[in-house]
Amino acid sequence: MNSYIKQWNNLILNCSFDNTYKMVWSKALVELSLSVSDEVKDDTIVFDFIDLSKLCLKYYWNQTIYFDLVQSPNLKKPPEMITYTKNLIYTYFNKKQSVQPIRFEKVDFNTTQLSEIYEGTVKKIANTLKQDVCWRFKNLNRETYEIYDLDRNEGKVFMNKNDVLMLKQYSDFLFTVINYRWTQMLEGFNYSPRISRKVRAIDENNIKRASLKKFHPHLDLLFEDGKRKCFYCGKNIAEKEISVDHVIPWSYMFSDDLWNLVYCHKGENSQKSNRLPTEEDITRLEERNKQLLQRMQNNSKDYDQLQIAIEKDYVKKFWISFKG
Ligand SMILES: [Zn+2]
Repeated sequence: MNSYIKQWNNLILNCSFDNTYKMVWSKALVELSLSVSDEVKDDTIVFDFIDLSKLCLKYYWNQTIYFDLVQSPNLKKPPEMITYTKNLIYTYFNKKQSVQPIRFEKVDFNTTQLSEIYEGTVKKIANTLKQDVCWRFKNLNRETYEIYDLDRNEGKVFMNKNDVLMLKQYSDFLFTVINYRWTQMLEGFNYSPRISRKVRAIDENNIKRASLKKFHPHLDLLFEDGKRKCFYCGKNIAEKEISVDHVIPWSYMFSDDLWNLVYCHKGENSQKSNRLPTEEDITRLEERNKQLLQRMQNNSKDYDQLQIAIEKDYVKKFWISFKG
């Protein structure tokens, strides 16, 4: 391996587990290197902290809005970049009057009249990168790797042109290494399943939230008179108010499983977002699953999966691990 890339590889794979700042920082640098032309004339390439900050915000936005991933071992005091990102997300949700997740790349902060808070967030993240991250990333085991130069007052990173082109050439490899290390860290801080799939899904832009309509025929088996009842409030649900809800949030499971799906009123579903179900809900869901299994015919994949979920106690197990 090229010696410059070897240094990056070392820094990424051996950095400390305090939080994931070094992951967003290194990923942003590699991503910015992709924008540099192979024919570039200058010997030194200059990257601006503001541009790096926008990329860091993108990574944190997407991981947070879809999966609410925890980015440090200290649950009580989240890293400030996450606090900034979450504030921006909440402001966006408020403005939209909806908690529907959306990819960062698709948000137009100007037309949603959030340009001011967006610019402010970018500046604050740039500041954290300046204070805490940019110089720390170069240090490992009392050694400093001179992979770039910094002007922290001006908020600039200086890199040798050949080094930047090397980053670009090895970008696929480095993204894989960064995601691997990032996943390792997240697995230490998060109790939710499928972390590596979540990290990859965000990069590959294939987070699909399928329609849950195909579960209606199963769920309808519970209501012989055809009157569907809300799992949470117990009242009848009108046709246009019907919604299928993940009792253990989708952001946590990252999959649609019959054992975790119930009918509820539309409004209740959108209010709930990523909230943890109560123990009472969990107990009722276990009862519901047993009842549902009895009513289903034992000739489908869904039946087999529900049976396994009951036998293996998925509801309780996932709920307990979710509580941490
Ligand atoms: Zn209800």
